[in-house]
Amino acid sequence: MKLSCDEPVTIRENEAAIIEAAFREGYVIPVMPQRNGKQVAVIGAGPAGLAAANQLNRKGYTVTLFDKAEAPGGLLRFGIPNFKLNKNIIDRRIQLLKAEGIRFEMNTTIDPTHLPEGFDAYCICTGAETPRDLLIPGRELKGIHFALEMLSQQNRIVEGQTFSKDKLVSAKGKKVLVIGGGDTGSDCIGTSIRQGAISVTQIEIMPQPPVGHNDATPWPQWPVVLKTTSSHEEGCTRRWSLTSNQFIGKNGKVTGVEVEQVEWTPSTDGGRPTMVPTGKKEIIEADIVLLAMGFLKPEQPEFPKNVFIAGDAATGASLVVRAMAGGRKIAAEIDKTI
Ligand SMILES: Cc1cc2nc3c(=O)[nH]c(=O)nc-3n(C[C@H](O)[C@H](O)[C@H](O)COP(=O)(O)OP(=O)(O)OC[C@H]3O[C@@H](n4cnc5c(N)ncnc54)[C@H](O)[C@@H]3O)c2cc1C
Repeated sequence: MKLSCDEPVTIRENEAAIIEAAFREGYVIPVMPQRNGKQVAVIGAGPAGLAAANQLNRKGYTVTLFDKAEAPGGLLRFGIPNFKLNKNIIDRRIQLLKAEGIRFEMNTTIDPTHLPEGFDAYCICTGAETPRDLLIPGRELKGIHFALEMLSQQNRIVEGQTFSKDKLVSAKGKKVLVIGGGDTGSDCIGTSIRQGAISVTQIEIMPQPPVGHNDATPWPQWPVVLKTTSSHEEGCTRRWSLTSNQFIGKNGKVTGVEVEQVEWTPSTDGGRPTMVPTGKKEIIEADIVLLAMGFLKPEQPEFPKNVFIAGDAATGASLVVRAMAGGRKIAAEIDKTI
């Protein structure tokens, strides 16, 4: 097979194969650390909190992980769909962390401005939880949901939880419109298809990026190129350069969204391009609209010196690998400081 320089390398597959073999052959066993007598509280058991807790525990700190959810994992468990990440992978790691002595306090919401007493340091890993809203006319109509309302509920349904009809966010038998062309939007597509949607349309305000390679974003910049996920391949209509003007409804329920084509004028000073509405409007029909337009960067209060922040809570919404790297880095900083 001829490979071009744009072909992905298989680091993920190599690493996954190594750790799977290690678990299978019994190499991954609990490591019991020598305790150093110090206590750390980690708030938030997503990938950042778990990574920080793991590092600190191995250094001998007694670590307690607090999370408001019923189970640890953060967005790995209650965000990323099961078809992308099998939750057994999280459970297997949690069992190991528990066996190594990390304490898990679930169903416990911590107010970061009133942290529990008795710890030498605190690590805030509470993620970036506030979704970006679309405050246009008709926002109050029924049937308009933030992406995570559907995604986290679906994760819980797969685990056997049930929801009353009025709480259920389901695409079954519906025309679905996903607003936002990123990964969260893609997860909404795959989930809607699995739930039995009649049709799924995804719209994005930015123009369609080039396929394969983008001269404007050479390595090592993040490549702004068209990303087609397995969810897209499962069947959806994708459209670009569309802004949403208003939600349309009937009897209090959403029936569609008025969209308008936009053009993007590149800036002359290397800044952000300017959006220019063209006046070309249309209505996209929808019985359910999922808002997948990213998350706001959390604002953190000024904390005392023994309080540290990592993951999405520190950087704004990012990636699992960055959250884990942030958790590991902050653990080293805590170890140096206290
Ligand atoms: C739908 C979706 C799909 C994604 N898919 C991918 C992907 O495929 N690949 C990828 O790399 N990244 C993906 N991401 C991004 C990735 O999931 C996040 O960047 C990562 O989970 C951030 O980790 P974190 O530990 O900082 O925060 P989170 O995972 O958000 O965890 C924060 C935890 O803090 C808890 N918490 C919050 N406030 C409190 C409080 N006051 N008291 C106690 N607990 C609290 C929450 O319950 C949660 O468990 C996706 C994100 C979303 C939304």
